[in-house]
Amino acid sequence: MTAKLLDGKSLARTIRLELRDEIVEYIENNGEVPTLAAVLVGDDPASEVYVRNKVKACDEVGIHSRMFRLPADASQDDLLSLVAKLNRAKDEPAHGILVQLPLPKQIDSTRILHAISPLKDVDGFHPENVGRLVQGAPRFIPCTPYGIQQLLIRNGIETAGRHVVVVGRSETVGKPMALLLMQRGAGADATVTVCHSRTRDLASITRQADILIVAIGQPQFIKADMVKPGAVVIDVGIHRTEGGLVGDVDFPAVSQVASQITPVPGGVGPLTVAMLLVNTLAAARTQQ
Ligand code: NDP
Repeated sequence: MTAKLLDGKSLARTIRLELRDEIVEYIENNGEVPTLAAVLVGDDPASEVYVRNKVKACDEVGIHSRMFRLPADASQDDLLSLVAKLNRAKDEPAHGILVQLPLPKQIDSTRILHAISPLKDVDGFHPENVGRLVQGAPRFIPCTPYGIQQLLIRNGIETAGRHVVVVGRSETVGKPMALLLMQRGAGADATVTVCHSRTRDLASITRQADILIVAIGQPQFIKADMVKPGAVVIDVGIHRTEGGLVGDVDFPAVSQVASQITPVPGGVGPLTVAMLLVNTLAAARTQQ
């Protein structure tokens, strides 16, 4: 079997086009442009690329982006006071606030993420927004799980009653992914199993998955014999290797077993950015 590719890049383009029209309408009705404040601390090259892509994507859909840079040795108080300023932002709006992770060692990421106003928390990491997701009444869904759910829905992949195995339990990907899929409604209603580094006999569990979602941060970790023939495989991982970008899934081998699979690059990554834009427009609307 050669799996069908789940093309995240073209879906992200479709979502951006839809959003462009909605943003034009928003500006006409409200007389202001939805605005994202992106904060980058330090000079990590990967973070630079991620933030640059997000800013570029904002421009393409008509969202105004404001970039704030702090040096690598910025203190926690420096960043907290910038976040406080953006939370208030009156003269120049910041409907959404994004603090690019990871942050330098001297800064407690949790404290920063909790300091962002929940109404501006376009990454969906604030406890109030996580709590709302748990209760099935989300305000902002974390961008990567949100993008994956859209990929499943818009490719007609049924989730109701199916066994989804999520490998990885990070606060940003694995955990919110599992929470989203266990809710009631479209693109959800799944039977969800969450695996992590302490899971015993991982392969025996991943082999039960109708839909396998992998976010572990280990290059090409998931091999063909860990996947049920015909399963849908979503690869969240991104790793730069000498041979180019690879994911957490051994793509050449697993694509011979799966029925559908996301490529890396061109799978989940572009959708993460697209959903950040969706959340920024939602944030602007919420603050009207
Ligand atoms: P984290 O490192 O925060 O979490 C990794 C998770 O995987 C942890 O829960 C860990 O378990 C689990 N894990 C690690 N090794 C194993 C193993 N051998 N077997 C089973 N579980 C394991 O990673 P993230 O969730 O932030 O990111 C995962 C990957 O996705 C990375 O490659 C990252 O670059 C990429 N990413 C891509 C995005 C995109 O837009 N495409 C967005 C965000 C991330 P434990 O909790 O026990 O430690």
